[in-house]
Amino acid sequence: MNGKIIRKLANPEEVKELYPLTEDMRRIVEKKKREIEKVLKGESKKLILIIGPCSADHEDSVIDYISRLREVQEKVKDDILIVPRIYTNKPRTTGEGYKGMLHQPNPNEKSDLFKGILATRHLHMRAIAETGFACADEMLYPENYQYLDDVLAYVAVGARSVEDQQHRLTASLIDSPVGMKNPTSGDYAVMLNAIVAASHPHTFIYRGWEVQSNGNPYAHAVLRGYTNKHGESQPNYHFEDLLRLSDMYASRNTPVPAAIIDTNHANSNKNPFAQPRIIKEVLNSMRLNEDVYKLVKGFMIESYIEDGRQEVGGSVYGQSITDACLGWEKSEKLIYEVADIFYSI
Ligand code: PEP
Ligand code: MN
Repeated sequence: MNGKIIRKLANPEEVKELYPLTEDMRRIVEKKKREIEKVLKGESKKLILIIGPCSADHEDSVIDYISRLREVQEKVKDDILIVPRIYTNKPRTTGEGYKGMLHQPNPNEKSDLFKGILATRHLHMRAIAETGFACADEMLYPENYQYLDDVLAYVAVGARSVEDQQHRLTASLIDSPVGMKNPTSGDYAVMLNAIVAASHPHTFIYRGWEVQSNGNPYAHAVLRGYTNKHGESQPNYHFEDLLRLSDMYASRNTPVPAAIIDTNHANSNKNPFAQPRIIKEVLNSMRLNEDVYKLVKGFMIESYIEDGRQEVGGSVYGQSITDACLGWEKSEKLIYEVADIFYSI
């Protein structure tokens, strides 16, 4: 082995015993999952907004942010279903940089994965208990998913993971809606293959066990833009992109032909202030075409308390240390605008 064992970590059962959910919390998670599922199936006419910081870097500012969303959610509850983003582990293109709360519960201190496991569960539980929101997270490491499987309402498989067999098979074992992002190359077929794989039952090895999954009936697409051969960001939220996905879904055997549009990342060329314009364009495309209307079930928005981003170690409260985000004032205004436009479609 080219390295050393640091220590044995607590397994998911032990961590859940340490931080158990109450019955009330369990009900909140189940209710949120059912609400998302209904939108994905087309049984509920709401628009899903998966919204929050690129990375959940500090527990207090994340809880502060999500508490603000709670008040907004009450005002738009007839049209919008808010699912806060609590992203506790971050994929890094070269492996360098802040890898999220799981690795560094304090971004200014060195990696501590034992504390990290506890911190991520604690944060998700605090969100449920204090704000009534069960949230979304990325499944970056399939083997860690069980530490959070009872607290998450939505799971995303990221652009760098969606082609990976273990992610796909684990997604088929997940008991909540799973969003499969298009890969960084932008190939829709890779994303659709992942959705098909996740939606079917599989037998495989998971955490040292031979397991049988039932298949995930709510695996769906998340469009996040892509990078071309010149290394430039390219969008995939335009009318033709959406119609193309709708057509491709028609020839594939997937349970819910649905898409969430990620408005940051390569779709915005990492300019968070482009997100309102992108959402408005997609809403207009939905208005223009019934297939697009049926396809698009919501948006994923990177938003935090302060606009923009800072380097790790920066001291601005509620400002992203990974991707730049839309600040609270603009985000709040955007949610009300989106609710109004969506209502009128
Ligand atoms: C993210 O959602 O912050 C993220 C890292 O996404 P992607 O996998 O699309 O790059
Ligand atoms: Mn991001």
